[in-house]
Amino acid sequence: MYYNEQTIIYFNGSFVKAAEAKTDLYSQSLHYGYAVFEGIRSYPVAGGTRLFKGEEHYDRLRRSAEYMKMPFAYTTQQLVDLTYETLARNGFTDAYVRPIVLCSPNMALSKGRESFLAIEAWEWTNGYMSNKMRIMTSSYARPNPKAFHVEAKVSGHYVNSILACQEARDKGYDEALVLDSEGYVAESSGANIFYENDGVLYTPPLGSILPGITRATVLELCQEFNIPVEEKLFTPEEMRGTDAGFFCGTAAEIVALASLDDVPFRLDWEESLSAMLQKAYTARVRELPHVQFENLTI
Ligand code: PMP
Repeated sequence: MYYNEQTIIYFNGSFVKAAEAKTDLYSQSLHYGYAVFEGIRSYPVAGGTRLFKGEEHYDRLRRSAEYMKMPFAYTTQQLVDLTYETLARNGFTDAYVRPIVLCSPNMALSKGRESFLAIEAWEWTNGYMSNKMRIMTSSYARPNPKAFHVEAKVSGHYVNSILACQEARDKGYDEALVLDSEGYVAESSGANIFYENDGVLYTPPLGSILPGITRATVLELCQEFNIPVEEKLFTPEEMRGTDAGFFCGTAAEIVALASLDDVPFRLDWEESLSAMLQKAYTARVRELPHVQFENLTI
């Protein structure tokens, strides 16, 4: 479902068929989760295809590789150019791009000696998380920032995400709300979180979370709309039963929450500031000229 016989990927210096690309079974990436990656959306915009914040994503990829002491010599501009080329060769506009930096065969627990870049992409048919989500507080904590570079997007960290997400699904919820090691709300298995109460938005500060590019965009939009927003630590108890809440991420975009631990959010979603931000986000990524909300225009 991610590729077929025709799909082209960029892999280690050339464009090849996804079905023919090979990786090494002795790679540190496979054995130890020692790989870094990104998730980027491309959107159809007037006159073509646009990566949303492609530079920010590739800056983060380069930083992630640096944190993990992986050799990785591409510049952000080269990475952006290679991505547009991958999209063009496949004829994709509305797509999800997944670049990953893999390391060479090495069973030792020392840093990678050589890295390989793959840029994979698939068409985005959406509906990933389009319904309001019922979420539960996870019994799993996020990786401890004293044990991992949590600000890096490292493959191995996602074993924790799989545990949290699957626990929530097994219990009949859509997603997990994962706490940091102190018991404060951190994020979900693959997105950042905001809640809204009495006209103010709240989101956890950086420290135990992935510094999301969508989260940064929401903060920018709040500034543009003059919506008060605070970065602060809070517990799930403080968040339950407030006006509204949402997850945000490149794939999820902005997805409304229905309830936390079966306690519904109070407002009708359409009445919330969060819903306004959701519309503004769609307009921003698709480069729609103006969105109007009562007397506000962006
Ligand atoms: N947190 C986690 C754990 C994630 O995997 C993601 C998705 N990359 C996010 C937050 C959101 O980050 P972004 O907005 O940059 O996609």
